[in-house]
Amino acid sequence: MNIHEYQAKALLRSYGAPVSDGRIVLRAEEAKTAAGELDGPLWVVKAQIHAGGRGKGSFKEPRAGEGGGVRLARSVEEAAEEAKRMLGQTLVTKQTGPAGKQVNRIYIEDGSGIEKEFYLALLVDRSSSRVSFVCSTEGGMDIEEVAESTPDKILSFSVDPATGYQPFHGRRIAFMLGLSGKQVKQCVALMGTLYQVFLEKDMEMLEINPLILTDGGDLKCLDAKMGFDSNAIYRHADIAELRDVSEEDPKELEASKYDLNYIALDGEIGCMVNGAGLAMATMDIIKLYGAEPANFLDVGGGATKEKVTEAFKIITSDPQVKGILVNIFGGIMRCDVIAEGVVAAVKEVGLQVPLVVRLEGTNVEKGKEIIGQSGLNVIAADDLKDGAEKIVKAVKG
Ligand code: GDP
Ligand code: MN
Repeated sequence: MNIHEYQAKALLRSYGAPVSDGRIVLRAEEAKTAAGELDGPLWVVKAQIHAGGRGKGSFKEPRAGEGGGVRLARSVEEAAEEAKRMLGQTLVTKQTGPAGKQVNRIYIEDGSGIEKEFYLALLVDRSSSRVSFVCSTEGGMDIEEVAESTPDKILSFSVDPATGYQPFHGRRIAFMLGLSGKQVKQCVALMGTLYQVFLEKDMEMLEINPLILTDGGDLKCLDAKMGFDSNAIYRHADIAELRDVSEEDPKELEASKYDLNYIALDGEIGCMVNGAGLAMATMDIIKLYGAEPANFLDVGGGATKEKVTEAFKIITSDPQVKGILVNIFGGIMRCDVIAEGVVAAVKEVGLQVPLVVRLEGTNVEKGKEIIGQSGLNVIAADDLKDGAEKIVKAVKG
């Protein structure tokens, strides 16, 4: 689960990390009062969406061509004006995709004078099973680009959980960033704070890009992106409260209501599979035959007919889906339950695209019988390879 920048900064502030003072604006009328509560002489007006690259992003019509989602202002009036102009508009960045994201919240911040911009992130490194720090002197930039073109400008190391964070970790980062004097002390303290909040709140990712050296020579977190482990959210009521469902994919949101493991992708073949491993294999083989999966979906072992029906409805609601592959290896899952769910869903919402069904395992005969008697226009497949081949052929000709 991700949260907004202003929420992440409030959390950092509560742990004593240096961030600017700011106010959140939800309605245009509030903009001037909010900006007036900050000192100036510089204000930063920031669109709050769950995607990075806002500064270099651009608004769609009717605000197109007037700068991105991070704007500097020199007066309260100017700041309020910028906030009003952004609210309700659609911001497109490298991370939102071409559809963009509607801006419903604006953060107005006390502007900082910037001496240097750095990159800093903490993340769970799955290969070492540890929390890793990643830092770079090339802040404010696309870190993927830095990693590709100048990998020597990135320092990355993991922290041994047995010792936890130690001052030498912070000094290593400070020297890499070229800090000196009091800045080294600030860096050691800040990294310790970030490590602590990362662990205590069960984060998956904490990115500060940029971490800056202000014109006064102090370290400050100028941007903050946080992702939390969804499986641990139940332990953090304060974080769960920050969820903004308007930032989530509506199909994924619907799926989560039915406890379905669904992830939206941008291909054309909708997949309904039981078991995460089989779902991955199904996506792989679809690609192997030259198409792209529209989603990951594991309906789980003990799915009911109702759950299968909802899953099928979510798949068909995606306008990008040009064909559907149902791939079930019935172990705990029974093929007849799947068949009943598919038939019920098609009765409710119809079927505009080719459907390939591959059933194998528990109650397979019964499942095939249900589909056979339903009168549905189904292409039957014998195995995974056959199923993938048939659905790709049905869609691509
Ligand atoms: P992002 O584009 O979504 O990553 O948004 P950021 O919060 O990182 O802001 C983008 C850029 O705007 C930063 O890299 C800075 O160069 C600039 N910026 C943000 N806040 C300030 C500020 O307080 N003062 C100044 N001078 N520039 C800022
Ligand atoms: Mn940023």
